[in-house]
Amino acid sequence: MRDRARLTIDLDAVVANWRMLVDRAPRSEVAAVVKADAYGLGAARVVPALARAGCRTFFVAQTGEAVAVRAAAPEARVLVLHGIAAPDVREAVARRLVPVLNEPGQVAVWRDLARRLERRLPVALHLDTGMNRLGLAAGTAIALDGLVPVLVMSHLVSAEIEDDPLNEAQRQRFERARAAWPSVPASLANSSGLFLGAPFQLDLCRPGYALYGGNPLPGRPNPMRAVVRLDAPVLQVTTVAVAGSVGYNATFAVRPGMRIATVPVGYADGWPRSASNKASVRIGGAPVPIAGRVSMDLITLDVSHLPESAVRPGTSVEMLGEALGIEALAEAAGTNGYEILTRLGRRYERRYRGGDL
Ligand SMILES: *Cc1c(COP(=O)(O)O)cnc(C)c1O
Repeated sequence: MRDRARLTIDLDAVVANWRMLVDRAPRSEVAAVVKADAYGLGAARVVPALARAGCRTFFVAQTGEAVAVRAAAPEARVLVLHGIAAPDVREAVARRLVPVLNEPGQVAVWRDLARRLERRLPVALHLDTGMNRLGLAAGTAIALDGLVPVLVMSHLVSAEIEDDPLNEAQRQRFERARAAWPSVPASLANSSGLFLGAPFQLDLCRPGYALYGGNPLPGRPNPMRAVVRLDAPVLQVTTVAVAGSVGYNATFAVRPGMRIATVPVGYADGWPRSASNKASVRIGGAPVPIAGRVSMDLITLDVSHLPESAVRPGTSVEMLGEALGIEALAEAAGTNGYEILTRLGRRYERRYRGGDL
């Protein structure tokens, strides 16, 4: 009998999602954002699958992440969103990594490097159009001697809220600022931004979340294919003998005759503790509510409404999948699907499906 939860990652679905985005943005290059180990799903598997499908450009957040992506896609263009700091620049050039320059000091480091190497170095420029987080002040002059801008980009504050006026305001600010580099390809859209339509798609789109099955259109039907599925075996079924409670701090009351199934998934596996007594998982398609506190390694489920024969040690519980998506769990937990994905635990047995030609 299995005693560990199994995370299945459907690489064919990742590729299908990328192709769908390519169809939706026919005049743009569609890159893939694979930071945080491809949102927790494993860049070493996701990147080669996307590269084989024709994806040419990958974004990571940090230089350390770029090394794995470069190894997984030797021909691809790899851009580092946080820039690349002085101690790492020589190795980065050797690996053909492209820094996204966010701040004047980063520009200066790369200008100096170009001078010392007597080479013209490709860089991307990130212009801040309203996030006030990272990026060069839009509209200020930037000396790029020795540097060749290959992308001018900015990032949307509220792309997933279609009618937020900030979207159009940022788009216009970006159009004005990028006019300083009229022949350099431009990029503004993340997953949700791509769905704002052609004016936001520009030359290159940078989706991450939608590739992994996240809904780029919150509140509307998810156009993307589900990528992750989490199944856990029931470890034990307890029939309650005397009235009492389940789990830490007695937050779920039980009567004699109720049945509680316990599964080996907990907050140490990234299952949010804030979903205690909130989310419902599935057994044989039937909703099964979480009963009591999510603990570090275990979750308890109220299975009283199911026939005894339907829930036994070893019975498979769908903890995430088509029926309970990452958004539904996120909503129950008071977070977003990005956090659910990037926290998916390291103790799961991981299985990859598809991804081959
Ligand atoms: C993470 C990130 C993306 C991808 O955003 P999604 O919402 O996951 O599609 C794109 N651009 C930048 C600058 C990012 O930091």
